[in-house]
Amino acid sequence: IAKQAGRNRFHFFAKEYGRQADRRLWLEHAMKHALSHREFFLEYQPKIDSKTRAVVGLEALVRWRKDGKVIPPGEFISLAEETGLIIPLGKYIIEATIRDLAILRASRFPAVPVAVNISAGQFTDPSFSRYVANTLAEGGLTSAAIELEITESLLMQNLAPTISALREMREAGVRIAIDDFGTGYSSMSYLRDLPVDTLKIDKSFIDDIAKGERGRGIVHAIIILGHHLGLTVTAEGVEVEEQANILRTLGCDQMQGYLYCKPLGVEQLLTWHAHTETSLR
Ligand code: C2E
Ligand code: MG
Ligand code: MG
Ligand code: MG
Repeated sequence: IAKQAGRNRFHFFAKEYGRQADRRLWLEHAMKHALSHREFFLEYQPKIDSKTRAVVGLEALVRWRKDGKVIPPGEFISLAEETGLIIPLGKYIIEATIRDLAILRASRFPAVPVAVNISAGQFTDPSFSRYVANTLAEGGLTSAAIELEITESLLMQNLAPTISALREMREAGVRIAIDDFGTGYSSMSYLRDLPVDTLKIDKSFIDDIAKGERGRGIVHAIIILGHHLGLTVTAEGVEVEEQANILRTLGCDQMQGYLYCKPLGVEQLLTWHAHTETSLR
């Protein structure tokens, strides 16, 4: 019976594996189609200054509109990274962001920088920094108009090539943030010398700050560390006022989260801003 069960299990996994491989192939094909048919689009989430409550930045977040449904990046970015599709998709994202920036700059929205999430594979593409500079110039924008966010774990996995690319970008005037900070095992000695401007504290830590002393302690320590390194510290995923109050007391510089605003398309963002410009303060 055991042998029988084992065989059945093998068949079960073989079948599942087959399905998964099919799904990957299907998804890869669908993504290629989506790229040429402009099914990807961006939403933007504001970053709020903790003290003044002004909008001090935006983060561009990619979505895929497929057959009337919106697919979140968690379902396709890692496959795009594995298949190399992140290179054309990443270019599309930067170009779309710069197009949207032109709309925002022509409106009453404050002229804040937009942060774009970048995968390690994009950074290690040797033409990346030239590409970013050219695209900005074509859009009539300076390097201060965009920031790049790279996750701590991707950064640490590709340290040497990524650091030299970061350095190049930064010399060109583009600001860099470490995303999901606290989840990726940065070593302190690397952190000291990393060419970055901002630490974004991962949402998982923000979730804990209103729950007790220990959760708060970690966030406080990250903020102090960031400030000693001369960095701006941003909290991700702030959902309730209590978290915002604690973060303000701990000296966190910027906040981002559903408490203030969900990621929105450009038109909705303009409406949001027109309605909340005064009420946030
Ligand atoms: P991330 O860069 O850390 O972005 C923050 C994520 O948290 C976003 O999810 C955002 O919608 C969500 N979020 C913001 N505030 C709150 C909140 O108060 N509560 C909750 N529960 N969630 C909040 P999203 O848009 O699904 O993106 C997930 C991840 O996918 C991003 O994490 C980023 O790593 C990646 N990603 C998104 N857009 C791009 C892109 O254009 N390129 C690349 N390479 N990666 C991207
Ligand atoms: Mg990010
Ligand atoms: Mg993050
Ligand atoms: Mg994340």
